[in-house]
Amino acid sequence: MAKKRMFSLQIVDTDAFLEMPLSTQALYFHLAMRADDDGFVDNHKKIMKMIGSAEDDFKVLLTKRFVLGFETGIMVIKHWRINNLIRNDRYTETTYIEQKNRLLIKENGSYTELDCDNKNGIKKIKKPKWLKDRQDALKNSSLPYSFNYKIRQEFNGKICPICNCEMRGYKYSDNKRPTIQHNIPISKGGKHEVENISVICRSCNETISDQETDELNNKEVIDVWNTIGNQMAPQVRLDKVRLGKNNIASISYLKNIPKEDIEELTEKYKVGNKFILDRAEDVIDYCESKGKAYKNYKAALRNFIKMHIRKNPTEIVVKTKTFESGERKVRTPEEQKSIDAKIKKIRDGLSDKMSMK
Ligand SMILES: [Zn+2]
Repeated sequence: MAKKRMFSLQIVDTDAFLEMPLSTQALYFHLAMRADDDGFVDNHKKIMKMIGSAEDDFKVLLTKRFVLGFETGIMVIKHWRINNLIRNDRYTETTYIEQKNRLLIKENGSYTELDCDNKNGIKKIKKPKWLKDRQDALKNSSLPYSFNYKIRQEFNGKICPICNCEMRGYKYSDNKRPTIQHNIPISKGGKHEVENISVICRSCNETISDQETDELNNKEVIDVWNTIGNQMAPQVRLDKVRLGKNNIASISYLKNIPKEDIEELTEKYKVGNKFILDRAEDVIDYCESKGKAYKNYKAALRNFIKMHIRKNPTEIVVKTKTFESGERKVRTPEEQKSIDAKIKKIRDGLSDKMSMK
């Protein structure tokens, strides 16, 4: 910690400052003496105890905005950069980067909150939008909290799909460690769902920043997740296995999909029965050829359906009466037009969904 600090008359010679009780002014000097090189203090309570100042002194500083407080008990001297000039070679950046990022440096050098609402005269700093978006995405996700950790673990040692380096490491400072990449960034409406996630190395992730990417290794992520992850599977499995029917944990599920599940899937993805059965065959083929097993074959089937639709959008078959009854009547131009419109609507809806996911 620095042993010397500066104060500017521009600040401490103002009426606003001099009108404050002496005890409050003293607290200001003591806080500023002990702040880090960016003006942050994380132990103001200890300092107050040490010099015997009252809680009110601190409140006055907050209210008069000589200091800005954060929810976490960290505070910053608002006019830090007016008071202090620190030589570059002596400067050590604060450890409170997150808080610092929530501040704007005004033209005169004082700090101000990027986004704030006034409560009880104390400015509380709101979460920045990116942080809020990210937390909301996690909250609204169907993935368990352990997802990121488990997937990163699985991809440790695999190849980064962008730079082809071997992804390795767990520590924050490992710049080749596997990290979660949202193919459509959260900031652009992408969701924290397995269909929107790839795993790339830390340094590529930083380079890409907020750009949209193609699916990269998303298919592998889905695959790994179907194999190791699906946290809901054991729960579903318990009651289904015990009942001894519709056993989604066994590949035989795909060979004899319950009628209500077929109905559910045709309804959900607007495809015909045959499409569902074909995809079930695909899953079976895939498992047999690759020696793969899933914890939840219904979930695997759903993912195959979604993937197939995404890759072959023109193959979407709208479930219509004609299709269901098996008759292949020649369509009138009007019928064809309405079917085309339907397909377009579904396709748009799906690509929306895909991009959301
Ligand atoms: Zn990389």
